[in-house]
Amino acid sequence: ATPLSVMVGTGKGAQAGILIRSAEALETAHKLDTVVLDKTGTVTAGKPVLTDVHPVGFDETALLRLVAGAEADSEHPLAQAIVTGVRDRGVQPHAATSFDSVTGKGVQATVSGHAVLVGTARLLGDVGIDTVTLTPVAAALSAEGKTPVLVAVDGRAVGVLAVADTVKEDSAAAIATLQRLGIDVVMLTGDNARTAAAIAAQVGIARVLAEVLPEHKADEIRRLQAEGRTVGMVGDGINDAPALAAADVGLAIGTGTDVAIEAADITLISGSLGGVVTAIRLSRATMRNIR
Ligand code: ADP
Ligand code: MG
Repeated sequence: ATPLSVMVGTGKGAQAGILIRSAEALETAHKLDTVVLDKTGTVTAGKPVLTDVHPVGFDETALLRLVAGAEADSEHPLAQAIVTGVRDRGVQPHAATSFDSVTGKGVQATVSGHAVLVGTARLLGDVGIDTVTLTPVAAALSAEGKTPVLVAVDGRAVGVLAVADTVKEDSAAAIATLQRLGIDVVMLTGDNARTAAAIAAQVGIARVLAEVLPEHKADEIRRLQAEGRTVGMVGDGINDAPALAAADVGLAIGTGTDVAIEAADITLISGSLGGVVTAIRLSRATMRNIR
């Protein structure tokens, strides 16, 4: 595109709340045939709420004290939802004496002298804890689109919590428009496959890549590119940054983390997925003007 048409396109983008960092991004966006969407904070609002508590052979209050203690030092949005939810239920957390976060899986902590694990089935399975007693509860919760959070205390599976996030108001409409423009829409998430599938169904996405660890998100983008696709990636989190950088066009949710915005070519200030449609239309218009 000519410098003038790029300037016009970039200016129109800015007016629509779409910050385009380079001429190259504006020029490439019209070629996208695949758009990959992070789930949490991108398709959904990213404001999870603790919805369910299912102790299994364990006192509920004792369970909540240990879980909130384990999650207190985690910066993950799920952890904050859990700590807030426990306090809202009038339960005071116990303090943790040791704490480690396990990326993409959960947390591991010592609380009141107990070894506490809070996170995915894989987190517990990795250390040989049998989670079979929790599986039916976790499956029912994830079928509702909630994220099950499994809890083990001293090597024993003792309960499941659920955290739910709501789909952003205009996500489904924006995804339908992208599909009408001939673009394949794919969901990419670290969350479990059942939860991801339930959310994907709510917004009309057929292809879901779930249980992808943060360090593997960029690999999934490169795999799609290896199929000959031109790939846009939309994300908000620190864990999306490598995938945003790997994509042909990275689009950051403006309400997301600075790390994601830094890694992206385009920032959608309002955070709504409608911005992805606008960016692609702008690019198509810009490229038409030069031919
Ligand atoms: P996403 O791609 O959805 O942003 P992450 O890669 O950050 O997810 O985490 C993947 C999954 O690991 C989460 O869906 C959750 O089940 C689990 N998890 C991660 N951190 C925590 C935590 N602090 N507490 C409980 N579960 C966690
Ligand atoms: Mg996210």
